[in-house]
Amino acid sequence: MSRRKVAILGSTGSVGTQALNVLRRHCDAFQIVGLACGSNADRLVAQAVEFDVPLIALGDPNARPTAPLPDGIRLVTGPEGLCDIAAGSAEVVLVATIGEAGLLPTAAAIREGKAVGLASKELLVMTGSLLTEMATRHGSLILPIDSEHSAIWQCLQGEGHRRIARLLLTASGGPFLDTPLEELARAGRREALNHPNWDMGPKVTVDSATLMNKGLEVIEAHWLFGVSYDQIDVAVHQQSVVHSMVEFTDGAVKAQLGRPSMDLPIAYALAYPERLVDPELGGGPLDLADLNQLTFRPPDTERFPLLDLAYRAGRRGGSEPAVLCGADLAAVELFLAGRIGFLDIARVVGEALATTGHTKEISLDEAQAWHQAGFEAAMNVGAALAS
Ligand code: MG
Repeated sequence: MSRRKVAILGSTGSVGTQALNVLRRHCDAFQIVGLACGSNADRLVAQAVEFDVPLIALGDPNARPTAPLPDGIRLVTGPEGLCDIAAGSAEVVLVATIGEAGLLPTAAAIREGKAVGLASKELLVMTGSLLTEMATRHGSLILPIDSEHSAIWQCLQGEGHRRIARLLLTASGGPFLDTPLEELARAGRREALNHPNWDMGPKVTVDSATLMNKGLEVIEAHWLFGVSYDQIDVAVHQQSVVHSMVEFTDGAVKAQLGRPSMDLPIAYALAYPERLVDPELGGGPLDLADLNQLTFRPPDTERFPLLDLAYRAGRRGGSEPAVLCGADLAAVELFLAGRIGFLDIARVVGEALATTGHTKEISLDEAQAWHQAGFEAAMNVGAALAS
């Protein structure tokens, strides 16, 4: 059997390194043909040496490895480098870049009809209508790597779209689920990065603390599964064992359960429609007797207003979700730098949305411009707050 050719964009990040951990155990089934990251050049070269990868790309045009490149590895730099890898010989392109850096490479992979494993939720949020329409046209499959969407995707195997009544996205609630408002106002970087269940990068960890992550996932689910926003609900489920659920038209509800671990969604997308034989995946077998109890409750949208803001941006569509992503990226940066408080994140994003304008239809390039406009608007609002 020939090995499936895989490329990873964002291979030095959290999802990228977890993907490599899976691939390290399954070299017989997969061959890595390209790796890319932003600027972590030496780490990227080390990965390429370990996995015998012929082509690597650095998104940052000024980044260079400190040592000469080993024989047999070719390096391309700049945003075009990522597109080269995305459109190259890979059958599956895993996109795990941060922010909108993966947008053009994702479009390049879709145009080549490749399967795209999408871990960068912002891309579908910003340009869901364009990417899904393009994927249909070019016969490309967009495979979710977000744990919630992977769960829904697994629940939908063997089911038709018309049977879906409702998607139920679960949310852990993050570290501040029951923190009183007065304390939330004082919460800093350290508290926000202390996620109870998931080990993720800093941006998405802060986004889970504000529930913005769930808001982005609602928009992501809308595009991945073609359901209306009225058919997507969020349930706070602190144990992060039920990764999400689908309610069908006859009232049946299916769920996918597991430990909070990203390697299973990654492996499922890489191997789809097969499943890997690997007892280490998902942090080992789930001991149901150990679970004790599973709890669910509605989200508190007054304390975490970004969830509703995301629903609203999704419903308005057009440029608004791109502005939302840009504004949130800026607000989280300001928060992580200690310049604004935790509750200011939602204020900054809300004001940036209110002041940035809106258009109904956008192209890929325009999506990036709207993202940038949202980012700058939020930086301005944030600077005014911080001064
Ligand atoms: Mg998720």
